[in-house]
Amino acid sequence: MSLEEYRSFHRRSIEEPEAFWSEQAAAVDWNRRWDEVRDYSRPPFVRWFAGGETNLCHNAVDRHLQERGEQTALAYVSTETGERAEYTYRELYAEVNAFAAALRGLGVGKGERVIIYMPMMPEAIFAMLACVRLGAIHSVVFGGFAAHNLAKRIDDAKPKVLITADAGMRGGSVVRYKPLVDEALDASRHPPEKVVVCHRGIDEEMPVDEGRDLDYSGLRQEHAGEEIPAEWVESSHPSYILYTSGTTGPPKGVQRDTGGYAVALVSSMKHIFASEPGETMFTASDIGWVVGHSYIVYAPLMYGMTSIVYEGLPIRPDPGIWWKIVEDYGVNTMFTSPTAIRALRKQDPKYMREHNTSSLRNLFLAGEPLDEPTSRWASESLGVTVRDNYWQTETGWPILSSLLPGLEDEPVVPGSAGFAVYGYDLKLVHEESGEEVGPGERGVLAIKPPLPPGCMSTVWGDDKRFVDTYFSDFPGDELYSTFDWATRREDGRYFIMGRSDDVINVAGHRLGTREIEEAISDHPDVAEAAAVGVKDEYKGQVVAAYVVPKESAPAGEELEESIKEIVAQRIGRIARPEIVRFVGALPKTRSGKLLRRSIQALAEGRETGDLSTIEDPAALEEIKAATPQSR
Ligand code: AMP
Repeated sequence: MSLEEYRSFHRRSIEEPEAFWSEQAAAVDWNRRWDEVRDYSRPPFVRWFAGGETNLCHNAVDRHLQERGEQTALAYVSTETGERAEYTYRELYAEVNAFAAALRGLGVGKGERVIIYMPMMPEAIFAMLACVRLGAIHSVVFGGFAAHNLAKRIDDAKPKVLITADAGMRGGSVVRYKPLVDEALDASRHPPEKVVVCHRGIDEEMPVDEGRDLDYSGLRQEHAGEEIPAEWVESSHPSYILYTSGTTGPPKGVQRDTGGYAVALVSSMKHIFASEPGETMFTASDIGWVVGHSYIVYAPLMYGMTSIVYEGLPIRPDPGIWWKIVEDYGVNTMFTSPTAIRALRKQDPKYMREHNTSSLRNLFLAGEPLDEPTSRWASESLGVTVRDNYWQTETGWPILSSLLPGLEDEPVVPGSAGFAVYGYDLKLVHEESGEEVGPGERGVLAIKPPLPPGCMSTVWGDDKRFVDTYFSDFPGDELYSTFDWATRREDGRYFIMGRSDDVINVAGHRLGTREIEEAISDHPDVAEAAAVGVKDEYKGQVVAAYVVPKESAPAGEELEESIKEIVAQRIGRIARPEIVRFVGALPKTRSGKLLRRSIQALAEGRETGDLSTIEDPAALEEIKAATPQSR
């Protein structure tokens, strides 16, 4: 195949979506065939495979039993606890059924929500699969998020049950989970009735609420050997909610369907990740992020692969650990973030050469811009092709990819995340007019609805917010905004140039400015704060906070430290500001809107744009003065 052939593959997905997607859907098991491939009677909402019935857990587990019952489904490696474990598809089936039986015993049924707040351990994946088996809706909350953040998600999802662990470990230090859960439950208005705890034996002092907390090992014993039939659900039945941050308001619950997601993921394993059933995939991410949902759990399992589940850092016990895993398990396809590779690049190159990584064909990187030196370093030291791909929590699978059918031999162009993925009708439009821009011109990347299978179906519990947030950015035709700047070359290659809103991306993790500002403003000595993302060599961006202290407050090192700490405590350590600067006022428009982009420009030593709407120009001067390149 060639680029020309891929173009016609893509064109067909847009012009004949029914035929195209029903062919892709043949790779998924259905209990009942759909009535309509695409129901777009209520734009911009779309229902893929309407009337069809399927189940993600059936597709990820049950359907492989006959052909691959003895194949390893999950290989678990923890360099934190030293544990390694393997589960065949048959063993996975037993574990998931026991977990599903336990949850059912606690009253979890179709449509009920379950929050999973866990470190990277196999039980977290059993729990996710058990939920979808029952038709329940899981919401995994990243284990690095603090109690306050967890409480917000609990109140939005109103779960029946919360599943957690006693503790996780990071870099050899114990991270206690259960006390955080207790704190979150105390702070929430809709605490779940029961908390299931997977006790790993790390935290012997773990607090227990006798009436509410249940030890999973007891439940597992009680339900061992039980088989719970997979609940067939209509294709658009929600499979999960995953919260993500935006510029305004509380985190949004990205709601995913069932059938469309299954089809998109299975087809992506073949067409984007160029993998085969029976092969091994290692996605070094966390189940708390969308990459973990899609490419640690659902896609590789539904496709019949072996998925590596890794708990630990990329540099411990030494920076060769990932390549050792590649060698030990014969990994064929790997997926991680540019930040992780940049962390490895700082280390002695000898670690790259110590292991035989010849089984590896492609290294996929996503989540943040991939810089050329990192890409070149990885491909040269590993002898693999590095494949940039671009997507969002909202889409669930890639929007742009540098590997697609026909592009195997196309040169990888550094800085480009690749071509439009089939199913996505992309438009590059002017920020204000919504008119399409030409090749080489900068625009906001938009998707002409309906969104393809696999993408979010709505914001959990708030259809209006879905439309208002994503489909109301441009005048004229209704378009989904990615809120990312991009350019496109004549040949169809896209280059992503950062967010058009104020979202901050630290090490591939998305953080909302508003949440950080709210946390800082809760500090008793703070009058006001602005948070912006500032370029960083390793993490892509770091958080910089410009803070107006209360008049009586001493602006000094102590206050700086306690501001950093309050953010870490309220949101999680990934949001901890790297830079805190004190100023007398923040620059705002006459209508009182913070001029975050101007602040960000100054913080990065760039010129500010048009400032005709500014209320108080002196405030900008102050920001400039507070930003000597002194980091
Ligand atoms: P998240 O929803 O947390 O995965 O964050 C999605 C955002 O990460 C996108 O809107 C982009 O701003 C950024 N992003 C993801 N992948 C890439 C990539 N390959 N290149 C540049 N930016 C990316």
